[in-house]
Amino acid sequence: MDDRKRNLIPAQLPDVRKNNFKEVALGFTDQIAMDEASRCLNCKNAPCMKGCPVGVHIPDFIAKIKEGDMVGANDVLTGDNNLPAVCGRVCPQENQCEKFCVRKVKLGGSVAIGALERYVADYAIANDLSVKNSNSNAVKLGKVAVVGSGPAGLSCASTLAKAGVQVTVFEALHKAGGVLSYGIPEFRLPKTIVAKEVEKLENLGVEIRRNVVVGKSLFIDELLEEYDAVFIGSGAGLPSFLRIKGENLNGVYSANEYLTRVNLMKAYKADAVTPILKGKKVVVVGAGNVAMDSARTAVRLGAEVHLVYRRSRAEMPARAEEIEHAEEEGIVFDLLTNPVEILGENGYVSGMKVIKMELGEPDSSGRRSPVPIVGSEYDIDCDEVIVALGTTPNPIIKQSCPSLEVSPKGTIVCDEYGRTSIPHLYAGGDAMTGAATVILAMGAGKKSAGAIIEELQNKRK
Ligand code: FAD
Ligand code: SF4
Repeated sequence: MDDRKRNLIPAQLPDVRKNNFKEVALGFTDQIAMDEASRCLNCKNAPCMKGCPVGVHIPDFIAKIKEGDMVGANDVLTGDNNLPAVCGRVCPQENQCEKFCVRKVKLGGSVAIGALERYVADYAIANDLSVKNSNSNAVKLGKVAVVGSGPAGLSCASTLAKAGVQVTVFEALHKAGGVLSYGIPEFRLPKTIVAKEVEKLENLGVEIRRNVVVGKSLFIDELLEEYDAVFIGSGAGLPSFLRIKGENLNGVYSANEYLTRVNLMKAYKADAVTPILKGKKVVVVGAGNVAMDSARTAVRLGAEVHLVYRRSRAEMPARAEEIEHAEEEGIVFDLLTNPVEILGENGYVSGMKVIKMELGEPDSSGRRSPVPIVGSEYDIDCDEVIVALGTTPNPIIKQSCPSLEVSPKGTIVCDEYGRTSIPHLYAGGDAMTGAATVILAMGAGKKSAGAIIEELQNKRK
C-alpha cells in the first residue's frame, strides 16, 4: 500500500520571517512537486473536485505534472480557474478540495493540491505562458462594465473577455486587485503575483479604469445605458467596530485601514505619504484571517502583539495554518477574553480593559456563546489597537441606485446567477454574500459571466 506522507511546503523559519515582509511559504521544488504529484491516485470519480467551487479538473492537472507536461497542466488549470497563482496560495484547501481527497485519513494525508496548483501557476508566470483566449478574433459579443477589480470582478472580466466580450473594469482605487492588493499582506501573497494576474487580464483586451468610484463620479444608471450588462463586484469593505468607550482614540485602526496603509500605501517606509503609527505593544481584536494578517503585520513592524478573542481556540475562524504561523511568530492569544474599554492618555491609546469570558449555551449559529465572568476585568498595557471584527458592503452603490434590492445586512440580493432586481445588472462576490473567500468570489464572477454571455448570445439571435 502506498501510504507515503504528504510533502510539506518549504517555508522561511519563524525567527527569520518575522523580521521581513517576504513570502513565508517558499513553494515546492521540482523534485518535491513530482513526488507529491505521484501521490495522486487519479481517482475516476475525483472526489476532490466536488470541494472546488470553480470545478478545477484536479486529477487531470496533476496527471500532466506527472507526465512533465507543465504547459498542459497550466492549460487544464486556467481552463477552470482564472487566478491559480492566487488560489494556490490563499484558498482554504483544507476545507475544500483537500477535505475530500481519498488519501486524507489513512494514506498519509490529502494530496497537497493547493501547493501543486501554486507550483504550476508559478511555472506559468516564470515562463510567460499566455492564457488562451478562446475567441480573441471573434466579432465582439457586446460591451460589459465590471465594477470592482477584486477576485469577483477579475474572474467575471476574464471569463467574458475569453468569450469575446468587450469589457471595461471600473476600480475605485489606484491599483487593481481588491483585497488581493490592499488586504492580504505581501508575506502571504506577493503583489508581483497579483500584478501578473491583472496584466494577464489586460492582455486579454480588458480595459481597467482606475480611480473611478461608481456611485460618486459615475452611476449604475449611466453604465446600464452605455453597456449591454453591468456586473457589480464591489466587495465588503466597510469595517465593523466594537462600539465601546475609547474607540476614537489615536492609535485605534480598523484592520482594513491598517492593512491598506501598510500593503497598498507602504506606510512602513520612512518617506510614506500615508504613514502609520507603529505601536510597540499592539492588541488585535478578532480571530479570523484578517486578524491574523493584522497581528503578523504588526509583528513585522516591530511590535509585541496580543490577540484578544472572546471565544476559545476551537472557534477561531482563521485557517489552521495562519493560526500556527501566528503562534510561531510569537503572537500571544488571549482567548475567552473580551474588550470592555480602550484606555487613553492625551488622546492616544494607553491600554485596554478586558473581561474574562466562559462558554455558555449554544447560540443560533450552533456555537457556544461567550458569557462574561463577573468581576474578572483586568487591563492590558498597549499603545495601539487593531479591530478585526468583520466587514459589510459599502452602501455607496445602493445609495446611488435606490431601486437596487439589498438585504438588511446591505448585501445585494441576487439569484443563483447573480441577477439583481434590475434588468441586465448582475452582482457577486463579497458584495452579494458578505465577507467570504477568494474562491467563492471568483466562482460567483464566473457564474455571472456565463449568464451574461447567454444573455448577449440570445440578443444576437
Ligand atoms: P474585493 O476583493 O473586496 O474587491 C472589491 C473591489 O471593488 C475593490 O478593489 C474595491 O476598491 C472596489 N470597489 C468597491 N466599491 C467600489 C465602487 N463604488 N466603485 C468602484 N470600485 C469599487 N479569502 C481567502 O479565500 N483566503 C484568505 O486567506 C483570505 N484572507 C483575507 C485577508 C484579509 C485581510 C481580507 C480583508 C480578506 C481575506 N479573504 C481571504 C477574503 C477575500 O479576500 C474576499 O472574500 C475576496 O477578496 C472578495 O472578493 P470581491 O471581488 O468580492 O471583493
Ligand atoms: Fe488525487 Fe486525492 Fe483527487 Fe483522488 S481525491 S484524484 S488522490 S487529489
